Amino acid sequence: METSVLNNYKKAAAVWKSAITLAQKKAKEGVLLFDIAEEVEKFIADEGAAPAFPINLSLNEEAAHFTPKWNDVTILKKSDLLKIDIGVHVEGYICDGAVTVNLDNAHAKQIEANELALANAISVVSFGKPVEKIGAEIERTLKEKGFNPVYNLGGHGLGKYDIHSSPSIPNHARGSSQNLEEGAIAIEPFASTGRGNVMESQQVEIFSIEKKFGVRNPFARKLIELSKDFDKLPFAERWLRRKTDAAKLEDYQVTVGLKELMKAGCFHTYPGLRESVGSLVTQVEKSLLVLEDKTIVLGE
Ligand code: MN
Ligand code: MN
Repeated sequence: METSVLNNYKKAAAVWKSAITLAQKKAKEGVLLFDIAEEVEKFIADEGAAPAFPINLSLNEEAAHFTPKWNDVTILKKSDLLKIDIGVHVEGYICDGAVTVNLDNAHAKQIEANELALANAISVVSFGKPVEKIGAEIERTLKEKGFNPVYNLGGHGLGKYDIHSSPSIPNHARGSSQNLEEGAIAIEPFASTGRGNVMESQQVEIFSIEKKFGVRNPFARKLIELSKDFDKLPFAERWLRRKTDAAKLEDYQVTVGLKELMKAGCFHTYPGLRESVGSLVTQVEKSLLVLEDKTIVLGE
């Protein structure tokens, strides 16, 4: 790996570490999730890096892809299981990682099991080794502790400006015949008290641009223009609303525009992913650099 690339990863990792520490510190009883999101994303930018995706703040049965909406009033409760998932990039080189916070400690065992699953998974990562071993460790560890992995979520490669590249890293023993090559990967086991299966919710707060043509609706065209800075990587409706507010677009115009863009396939959507109601899901995630002679865990 070129030194300049390695340095970008190291910088992204250092900012990620400070950002996740800040988010954990902010995660107190009664705080608005919106305030955590806005402060952490601003911090990342102030450090000279950029968010690789909107901060994910998913609660309880929610597993991923939830980020506060514009004017969100959700507050953090002591009993909540909050997953904080942050991506930071420097020149497109991404560090992606997550922790789970539970203020009343009622679910400490689940979080510990999840952390052990991640540690065991990291211990089998080495250049040229089968990807499948990672998922096998995750599934074995979580089941031994009485939880299910979330079978339909997994880790992934990290490409330049590409949050989900090859290889896909399942959170279970089957499903990959690849061997690890040189590059960055993210390992992210989810522990669930439910069946280990997430479904798409109706709520969509995260988008990315798929293409910039094929719509005639003037509001949709305006949204494309306003979102041009978000090119390549996922962005939050929250980020877009800040621009539409400044551009004096009415609420209904944004809603109509977004609907048109989704219908025309211009915006890719990342719907919230959740387990069945009543289940509890935790997540921990680390990014790693797999090199021929060694593996580096980012943000430690
Ligand atoms: Mn992540
Ligand atoms: Mn990830």
